[in-house]
Amino acid sequence: MIGDMQKWTPNVASIIEHAKNLYPKQEVISRMISGEIHRTNYEEVCIRSRKLASALEKDGYKKGDILATLALNTYRHLELYYGISGMGAITHTLNFRLHPEQAVYIINHAEDKIIFVEAPFVPMMEALKDQLNCVEKYIILCDKNELPETSLKNAISYEEYIEGGDENYVWPELEDDAACGLCYTSGTTGNPKGVLYAHKSNILHAYAALTGLTVSPDESILMVVPLFHVQAWGIPYYGPMFGLKLVMPGMQMEGEPLYDLIEREDVTLAFGVPTVWMGLLSYCRDNNKILKSVKNTVIGGSALSLAILKEFDEVHDVNVIQGWGMTEMSPLGTSNFMTPEMQKMNKEDRYAMQLKQGRPMFGVELKVVDDSGNELPNDGESQGHLMVRGPWILQRYFKADKDAVDQDGWFDTGDISVIDEDGYMTIKDRAKDVIKSGGEWISSIDLENAAVGHPDVAEACVVGIPHPKWDERPILFIVTNSGEPIEKQSILDFLASKVAKWWLPDEIIFLKDLPHGATGKLQKFELRDEYNNYYMEK
Ligand code: ADP
Repeated sequence: MIGDMQKWTPNVASIIEHAKNLYPKQEVISRMISGEIHRTNYEEVCIRSRKLASALEKDGYKKGDILATLALNTYRHLELYYGISGMGAITHTLNFRLHPEQAVYIINHAEDKIIFVEAPFVPMMEALKDQLNCVEKYIILCDKNELPETSLKNAISYEEYIEGGDENYVWPELEDDAACGLCYTSGTTGNPKGVLYAHKSNILHAYAALTGLTVSPDESILMVVPLFHVQAWGIPYYGPMFGLKLVMPGMQMEGEPLYDLIEREDVTLAFGVPTVWMGLLSYCRDNNKILKSVKNTVIGGSALSLAILKEFDEVHDVNVIQGWGMTEMSPLGTSNFMTPEMQKMNKEDRYAMQLKQGRPMFGVELKVVDDSGNELPNDGESQGHLMVRGPWILQRYFKADKDAVDQDGWFDTGDISVIDEDGYMTIKDRAKDVIKSGGEWISSIDLENAAVGHPDVAEACVVGIPHPKWDERPILFIVTNSGEPIEKQSILDFLASKVAKWWLPDEIIFLKDLPHGATGKLQKFELRDEYNNYYMEK
């Protein structure tokens, strides 16, 4: 028997309409490229999104068209999220740190018809434009009088484009499960793969995020996580859904401008990846600054280290909520928020809990399996391939000819994890980064986290390198606070108190920088390639 309730074919534009009706004056703050702070609100964002949608329709664009953004975190990018998807087209977010070859591949694969380009990225598009036959028009995110000289086809400023749009535009009805947004995975191996999100999956994800991240209605959110990557963890949807103040840093993500924005806008909840927070914390440390307004920070994208957790807690009195997920999961899968039990724990035990990646939000199922696909027990020890299933998890990559899940709908995350008796999941490694030494596994993440606990270490990266006797042995790459090498023995002594003896790296190499990819993750393959023969040649 079928229930008697109404059919739900949602359009994400209903979120910005809701925000306009209920929280019209709630602020949306952006740091523009000039450094100037721009202030608008949900009413204006909604009306300008309607104008954009109407302008696109007048210009002949239709439901199902894929329109790309190459843009920063500002109010205009938020309008693109609603204006494009709301009229039934698909918002394809491009990452401006992509390698040019990958950008060309992605744009052609998606068949983007328009690219909305932030002014500083115009030269980048000009260099690629001859390889992009699908693109009909470039809309530059600026005022009419700021439009740069450009050879880009049909270039027009965003403000001129939306000028004639209808303020009273009515959003269309969409078909069930209509596509909403497109984001490509970083593709460290092979070509990047597209993940096509739906309106329904995005809204369900946003509801889940509000509970999983324990967001309260009076928050002022600092959205450092980029709108160009995995939908900024859903904030552009659940922010307006809940009437939260949105604060966006534009291009300036270094410690000082971030601190300044946090102070000015009374940020209470800040979202970002560990590398961004390392910059902010070190700025605060060097300048004796305290994050006064911030109560919580959500950290994800890479493993949270004890050093970051401790500094937020002990120096700034900021509670850290770790989140884990991936592009294929819209992206949120688990969160680790403070529970009454955790509040009662002593610090050490509480920190140990907080370093776990967390428990799944309702809707996401998790399991770990062995190499043959057999489910392993949730005992906190059995380590295996982490599989996920749920309504905002990918079924099939964009334009692929077969599903990306097994016959029971489980998607292999590529992460190696354990799940404990209480359902807390801990990532031990990416499957491709696991180090197999003498038949046993060494977790590169655990070793890295231990190393960054050393007071002179700013960043660490551990890579498994082929070894004639042990299969693989770890090399530890370190960037020190001073940028200069330090006594290796002091690092080894420090690590010896934290990890098993056979985990200790056979070699420590000091670098000025570690290779980071377009989304801030360590590009271990670069180091692995460079040092591949290191132990073999010794
Ligand atoms: P995102 O930008 O959300 O990190 P990606 O799809 O680029 O999405 O990367 C997903 C991968 O990042 C995960 O499979 C996992 O390996 C890693 N990751 C994400 N969050 C965490 C976390 N909190 N701890 C450890 N690794 C993480």
